[in-house]
Amino acid sequence: MAVVKANAYGHGAVETSRTLIQHGVTRLAVFSTEEGVALRQSGITVPIVILGPVFQEQFGHLFAHQLTPVVSDPSTLTTLAQAAALRKVSHSIHLKIETGMGRLGLAQDELVALIHSRKFPPSLRLEGLMTHLADADGSNSDTTEEQLRRFRDALKVVQEGGFQVPLIHVSNSCGAVRFPSAHFSLVRPGIMLYGYHTLPGTIETPDLRPVLSLKTCVAQLRTIQPGKTVSYNRTFTARRPTRIAVLPIGYAGGFSRRLSNRGYVLIHGQRAPIAGVVCMDMVMVDVTTIPGVAVGDDVMLIGQQDNERITAGDIAEWTGTISYEVLCAISPQIPRLYVSS
Ligand SMILES: *Cc1c(COP(=O)(O)O)cnc(C)c1O
Repeated sequence: MAVVKANAYGHGAVETSRTLIQHGVTRLAVFSTEEGVALRQSGITVPIVILGPVFQEQFGHLFAHQLTPVVSDPSTLTTLAQAAALRKVSHSIHLKIETGMGRLGLAQDELVALIHSRKFPPSLRLEGLMTHLADADGSNSDTTEEQLRRFRDALKVVQEGGFQVPLIHVSNSCGAVRFPSAHFSLVRPGIMLYGYHTLPGTIETPDLRPVLSLKTCVAQLRTIQPGKTVSYNRTFTARRPTRIAVLPIGYAGGFSRRLSNRGYVLIHGQRAPIAGVVCMDMVMVDVTTIPGVAVGDDVMLIGQQDNERITAGDIAEWTGTISYEVLCAISPQIPRLYVSS
């Protein structure tokens, strides 16, 4: 089950989903009902699981578009069951168990009460049982092993209650690589599909290659004299005659303002440092040491040029975050070009 939430981690949900399906993925997961509806409206027919919370006003969309919600609390189970019964449909759901993430999920006692009451709603079909790992990329595996123990207990309660649940799933990318015992019947990779991971260096990782490049071009060039400054609040001052290139991307496009005066872009295969604060739709870089830069030249913000490379992981380090946030911050308004090989 490929996770394509957050616009497929910034890669474009529809095209990414189509490509994943072509390559054998049989099920997709998104966060919201709206994301699921958008995939359906673009013609995607494989099962789609909604990982996030669902609300009453969305139930109609779940039924109409055959979207499979993850139910994480008893009251949603009740209201969803009533809505399904009213429409005389039997709707598939997955139940989520809280095992240590401290986020969505039925508590163990809520699960026991539901199963032992023998009142599981007949209008709902229990297709899946799941939980989510909080520390699959942590420095040790204790938290995950404790979560797996709790999940196996929950699974036992459900099975002994007479349910045959076809889809049992626990693992995100790191969990799938690191804990083969947690594969169950389905895994839920997200970040690794896009070529990144957050596993500690001690864990052997698969051969991952970043899928996405983020490119722009040089919009204007100017040489400024020592003492002159660049961008809002004059945080960059030239110490020598300095060649500044203006690039038409900024924080509105997903190029974080935390990159102000830190981090680099690639021009002519060389690193150009960011000069001054990142603006909403523009950023300036220092190209003094890169000969022959011209308006229109390609600029790589994430990706490779000649032998130099900048990854979303590098930007994450410069800005104090993780590759996930760098990727999904890339605004949907930035045009995506898909290259098939
Ligand atoms: C986002 C998410 C995943 C995927 O996680 P990655 O770390 O990107 O592989 C899996 N399961 C759930 C419930 C998620 O929210």
